[in-house]
Amino acid sequence: MSRVLVVEDEPAIAELIALNLRHSGFDVVVATTGDAAQVEIDRVLPNLVLLDWMLPGQSGLSLAKRWRSEARTRELPIIMLTARAQEVDKVAGLDAGADDYLTKPFSTHELMARVRAVLRRKAPQALDSAVEVTGLRLDPATRRVSREDQEVKIGPTEFKLLHFFMTHPERVHSRAQLLDKVWGDHVFIEERTVDVHVKRLREALSPVGRSQLIETVRGAGYRLTQQLTNVA
Ligand code: CA
Repeated sequence: MSRVLVVEDEPAIAELIALNLRHSGFDVVVATTGDAAQVEIDRVLPNLVLLDWMLPGQSGLSLAKRWRSEARTRELPIIMLTARAQEVDKVAGLDAGADDYLTKPFSTHELMARVRAVLRRKAPQALDSAVEVTGLRLDPATRRVSREDQEVKIGPTEFKLLHFFMTHPERVHSRAQLLDKVWGDHVFIEERTVDVHVKRLREALSPVGRSQLIETVRGAGYRLTQQLTNVA
């Protein structure tokens, strides 16, 4: 389940946001101060942060700047929330590294649309939408993988791995990156674990003629290729 961190000191707004996100199937954590948000980020990296600008103590702006400057949080999708509507503040928020910007008061429809748009752009594996590559279809909502009408038997880790590859096709991912994105950060697993699961994934895809979907890129890692040779 995708995790959203809501950093908002006004309880009514935090609750409204949390309710809507949970209703859409997200796992929600609320932090009411900048320090609490930092503790949460250090603990578990969420898929997206909704970050209020005006917070007691550290401002949302300074948090966004810090997260953008650190390797672990550099790619973290951030949507800034604020009561300020001036153009100059929007620019400051985007300069600090926010991916999008929402001015209070906002409709919950707009909020959810922005959340989905930012995730689609920056972390498509965090969304529930079905993906299809070379006729292979993966549906996170039903946790099913199939080609034509043939279902693929696949384990939970291989499913997550395939989902990540399918939402990031053609790009080369190192073993360390795959561990971070698929297994989660703060997870101390040997890199060769990735090889074991890639092997299992290829075996799972073999009955539907897609074992060559995941390529080994020597010295670099793995990649999902859409240029299949010897397609069955
Ligand atoms: Ca506030």
